[in-house]
Amino acid sequence: MLKRDYYDVLGVSRDVGNEELKKAYRKLALNFHPDRNPGDKEAEDKFKEAAEAYDVLSDTEKRQIYDRFGHEGLEGRGFTGFRGFDDISSNFGDIFEDFFGFGTRSRRGQNVRPGRNLRYNLELTLEEAFSGKEAEVAFHRLETCNTCSGSGLEPGTQSQVCSVCQGKGQVVRSQGFFQISTTCPVCHGTGRIITNPCKDCGGEGNIRVERKINVKIPRGVDTGSQLRLRGEGESGKHGAPSGDLFIVIHIKEHDFFSREGDNLICPITISFVQAALGATITIPVLGDEKTYELDIPKGTQPGDILKVAGKGMPHINHHHGRGDLYINIAVRIPRKLNQRQQELLDEFARIEGESHFYKKKKKKSLWDKVLK
Ligand SMILES: [Zn+2]
Ligand SMILES: [Zn+2]
Repeated sequence: MLKRDYYDVLGVSRDVGNEELKKAYRKLALNFHPDRNPGDKEAEDKFKEAAEAYDVLSDTEKRQIYDRFGHEGLEGRGFTGFRGFDDISSNFGDIFEDFFGFGTRSRRGQNVRPGRNLRYNLELTLEEAFSGKEAEVAFHRLETCNTCSGSGLEPGTQSQVCSVCQGKGQVVRSQGFFQISTTCPVCHGTGRIITNPCKDCGGEGNIRVERKINVKIPRGVDTGSQLRLRGEGESGKHGAPSGDLFIVIHIKEHDFFSREGDNLICPITISFVQAALGATITIPVLGDEKTYELDIPKGTQPGDILKVAGKGMPHINHHHGRGDLYINIAVRIPRKLNQRQQELLDEFARIEGESHFYKKKKKKSLWDKVLK
C-alpha cells in the first residue's frame, strides 16, 4: 500500500511547530476516533494514519529521519507503524488522556498506564565522549512494592469489586448523541477497590527508592544524544509495565577542541618563519596516540585551515572510523626584533624590492594644509 506523506495526512506545512502539529492531530483524532465511529472501517484507517503521522512528526529524531529519507528511512530503522488501536493507545496514553479526558483501553479493557519515563542528564568531557565510558547513574524512581508484589493489598487480604462500575472499570456517560464510556473514577479502571491497603506502600503498589545503575556510554556521543534504557523508568501501577529511562548527554566545553558533528576543530599558532618556510610541528589529538606530527606547507597563510583526516571523533553507530580534524592556522608576528633579526629582515625586504624602510615623514602642520 502506498503511504501518504505525513505532512499531508495532518494537513500541515513542513515547518510546522509542535503546538500546531498537536492541534492538527487532535482535530483529526477527535473526528475519526473509533468510539465516535463504531464499525466504520474508513474512519479507523484515517485514525490510524493520523496517529502514525503524529507519532513520527512529534518525535524530533523520527521526524529528521522522515524528512531526509521518507517512509523507507523509517522502515529501515525498524519503525513499522501501528497495527491496531491498542498499539496506538499504548503509544499515546498521555495525549489521549489530554484529548478525551479518559484513559485508553488496553487488551484487558482496563485502564493500564505504564510507569513514567525518567530523564537523567549526564555531563561528559570530550575525552569521555571520545573513548566511551561506563557511567554510574544514581536516581530515584518508583518501584514495585516487594511486600504486596505491586497489588497494593495488605498480604492475606483481598480486594473488593468496585460498586460504582460493578467491576467493569468503565462507566458510560452520555454526551449529546454520543455515549462515551469513561474510566471509572472510583477504581480508576481496575474494577476493584482496596479496602486493606499494604502498609509499606499505602496501597499504591510501588515505593520510591534510590537506584544506581551502570550505563555503557558508546564512543562518539554528542550533546543531545539520548540513550534509552527500556523498562528502567518508573514501575507502572498494579502490574503495568515500567517506563523507560532516558540518559541525555551533554558534552562540556573543551579548552582546545571544538566540535562539529564528528569533526574536531582547533586553533594552532605558528611563527611567520614556519608559515613561510614550512615546518613539522607536534599537535595534541584525542585518542591513544595523543599527538600528531602536522606538516605545515611552505607559504601557509593566516586563516588557512589544514585538514587531518581521521583524527576527529569516532563515528557513533559504527565500529570504526573517525571524523576529521581541522586546524585553524594563526601566524605570530614578532613584536620585537634584535639587531641581527632586524638586519636579516632588512636584507629580505631589499631582495623583495619592497620600499619597506619606515621613513619618518615630517608631519604637516595644520598651517601647511591651510596655506596650500
Ligand atoms: Zn505494597
Ligand atoms: Zn469502578
